[in-house]
Amino acid sequence: MIEFNEEGVVTKSTGSWYTVALQNGKKLQARLRGNLRLDERDTTNPVAVGDRVIIAENEGDYVISEILPRKNYIVRQSPKHPKARHIIASNIDQAILIATITMPRTSPGFIDRFLLTAEAYHIPVILVFNKNDLITGDHDKHLRDTYFQIYSPIGYKILFTSVKTGENINTLKALLKDKTSLLGGHSGVGKSSLINFIEPSLQLKTQPVSSYTGKGLHTTTFAEMHFLSFGGCIIDTPGIKEFGVSGFLPEEVSHYFIEMLPYLPKCKFNNCLHDNEPDCAVKEAVNQGKIHSQRYSSYLTLLEEVKQARKDWE
Ligand code: GDP
Ligand code: ZN
Repeated sequence: MIEFNEEGVVTKSTGSWYTVALQNGKKLQARLRGNLRLDERDTTNPVAVGDRVIIAENEGDYVISEILPRKNYIVRQSPKHPKARHIIASNIDQAILIATITMPRTSPGFIDRFLLTAEAYHIPVILVFNKNDLITGDHDKHLRDTYFQIYSPIGYKILFTSVKTGENINTLKALLKDKTSLLGGHSGVGKSSLINFIEPSLQLKTQPVSSYTGKGLHTTTFAEMHFLSFGGCIIDTPGIKEFGVSGFLPEEVSHYFIEMLPYLPKCKFNNCLHDNEPDCAVKEAVNQGKIHSQRYSSYLTLLEEVKQARKDWE
């Protein structure tokens, strides 16, 4: 007998149990109703963090009886099974990539990969470079300027923060307010510290300073949604380093490098991959300094990766 039907949002998933927050703030544990019809057959998880669901109570047990349509979602691809896609989170307003110039240094390739996937899933990105207090030497200052010159003119919001000094934390809070934000980044960049600073009641575990290079320290790969007391929520993705490019077409890659868009119609060949083709407007823009060479270099790397993924897929 069904005693109630209420809408909620999935905040955590641990295999067969889902934590669901109801609209009144109450959290409960629910399973999936056995005969729920599922559309996405190529994904390894039917329900993701961020999903809006209908909860029914059946003899004291809560079940998810319906998954409401997703606005968007972002997937992680299993390295061993390219066709198996794991939905990390859904219904995302924006993605915040936490990066660092130093300790550890986030590579431009990693940033561009993140931007590519976010663009493909139509999720706006804000770049946050944390540990700005550590930027004192000329080399690091130059790197910081370069990042700003690459990403700001092409339309990405970019912010330099510090948990140590509190720099720009209020700006970040204002950007998070009333939105659902996915937070990504390599471990060690201070993602947990930032979250705790913004919302002290969360008390996420942080790493000791000595383990900056301790990759693989976070073993959990479950996303989790946390509500912010000032409005909005964040989806933390511990252990999830990158999002999948499986299923992308090589000719699509340039569409997700947003500064390339104006040049695409000007290439001689309409199936131009902007690699070795003659009369390529993208390459010309790179030569003229209108497209940053570092971005173009990331483009070529990602293009190769997508081509390879395509081969594995077929
Ligand atoms: P996470 O793996 O991204 O969640 O990183 P943590 O939050 O665990 O932080 C990793 C280390 O960086 C910890 O030792 C933090 O104290 C340190 N840390 C975090 N934010 C900052 C910052 O803004 N400046 C400095 N100097 N250290 C920071
Ligand atoms: Zn071209």
